[in-house]
Amino acid sequence: MSNPFQAEDRFSDGAQYIGGELRPGTSGRKHAVVDPATGDSVYEYELAGTADVDAVVESAARAFPGWAGATPGERSDAMHRFAAVLAERAEDFADAESLQCGKPIRLSTEFDVPGTVDNAAFFAGAARQLEGKSAGEYSADHTSYIRREPIGVVGSIAPWNYPLQMAAWKVLPAIAAGNTVVLKPAELTPLTSLMFAQAATEAGIPDGVVNIISGAGKDAGEHLVGHPDIAMTSFTGSTQVGKRVAEIATGTVKRLHLELGGKAPFVVFDDADLEAAVHGAVAGALINTGQDCTAATRAYIQRPLYDAFVSGVADLMATVRLGDPFDPVTDLGPLISHAQRDRVAAFVERARSYATVVTGGEAPQGELAEGAYYRPTLVTGAAQDSEIVQSEIFGPVLVVLPFDSDDEGIALANDTPYGLAASAWSRDVYRTGRATRDIKAGCVWINDHIPILSEMPHGGYKASGFGKDMSAYSFEEYTQVKHVMYDNTAVARKDWHRTVFGDR
Ligand code: NAD
Repeated sequence: MSNPFQAEDRFSDGAQYIGGELRPGTSGRKHAVVDPATGDSVYEYELAGTADVDAVVESAARAFPGWAGATPGERSDAMHRFAAVLAERAEDFADAESLQCGKPIRLSTEFDVPGTVDNAAFFAGAARQLEGKSAGEYSADHTSYIRREPIGVVGSIAPWNYPLQMAAWKVLPAIAAGNTVVLKPAELTPLTSLMFAQAATEAGIPDGVVNIISGAGKDAGEHLVGHPDIAMTSFTGSTQVGKRVAEIATGTVKRLHLELGGKAPFVVFDDADLEAAVHGAVAGALINTGQDCTAATRAYIQRPLYDAFVSGVADLMATVRLGDPFDPVTDLGPLISHAQRDRVAAFVERARSYATVVTGGEAPQGELAEGAYYRPTLVTGAAQDSEIVQSEIFGPVLVVLPFDSDDEGIALANDTPYGLAASAWSRDVYRTGRATRDIKAGCVWINDHIPILSEMPHGGYKASGFGKDMSAYSFEEYTQVKHVMYDNTAVARKDWHRTVFGDR
């Protein structure tokens, strides 16, 4: 299949979108966007340096008063137009996303792009829904009310696994609330973030409200987080980098939002619908080639169903079609890069010494050998404290372990540092009720795994971070609450002054 997206032509002016214009970076260092299905470079750009970060922050700071001062209705109108432009360009976005990530075109077309359009429509509505406590006389002598205000310039940093959706999750609630944004996409995947910002401009969102800085994490990323004119840092990425970001942000006392790694458990009780659980596990483990922070990674199966589950998953994995991301029949694309493929393969190789690789565990040969492909992989027999059970692999690898009692299943599900998402499978309402209460994760699905909604929050417990993306909860994170208190007595000597002046 041919790649329909010509990145070199589209972004010949550079990969920095500052104040409504594309420009090249000035770091003196180049970076290539590589098609992971072939290993070919499809676009080379100059990375942003710290001077570019300073320029982009200045542009966002200049745009802030105007955008913050627009009425919620005006912001909402512009964002409805933004949603419409994104919808008009759906095919273009899907092509670019599949090219830079190697995602099957079906996934980009049916998940990434419509999810982004829906988010834009949702936050266009949210812009007009400023919630707060009712104004009133909470003291007899005063009237209090709440103002909900934007924070300022938000510096956002995104990963490469869902570049378009991550841009949407970071930018939309922030601008709906009246902030301006500088988004740094991952170095590997700047294309759809740039297109997203261009669509904002086309929709009439003022220049400087949505800016993109395409730079490396260590210099551009750290400079953005530490920048004194950035009021809030919103980061999505690995827990390891999140800790570094938190250190820098804390040093400059910024509001912080961290969406970090995951290692989602998938708990199947012995009364579950086995066919549903097998299909759910394979789909949940392989979506986006397993490069999903909520992917099903650890399946815990109650002993009576264990053997049938393992053989069902192995059989189903064998039917998954690896192939060209632009071929509509392809189920599984490559990983994001050859380096990520090798990292995943190394996890599996190390696991061979203590566990069994039931299926997969290798890169395909033949036509796909040049791409960063890796076969769907099923591992059994690993100990709970082993690396493959505890660490985030971020590839098409599912580990399956048995359990006996319900208590044990839930305890094992909770036994990693992460807490982003989980699922429990059962027909018994008491079991599922208990799982939803006792599993420590920001999302618990019952009899499904993966679906997300614009109206519902996404975010972690434990080492998966804090703060929510999507939903009204996320909108609130990008606002600050101000208490305004009026004296309504008009008395010079207030009653409470006795605490200072005594009876004078
Ligand atoms: P990563 O942490 O390596 O990089 C994420 C971003 O941080 C990139 O833009 C990178 O350039 C930047 N960065 C790297 N070092 C930096 C530094 N020192 N200072 C500032 N920025 C820096 O993550 P990744 O490999 O791009 O993405 C995969 C990770 O993202 C996984 O751990 C996955 O679970 C996580 N993720 C989490 C969510 C969520 O919602 N919780 C969603 C998607 C991905």
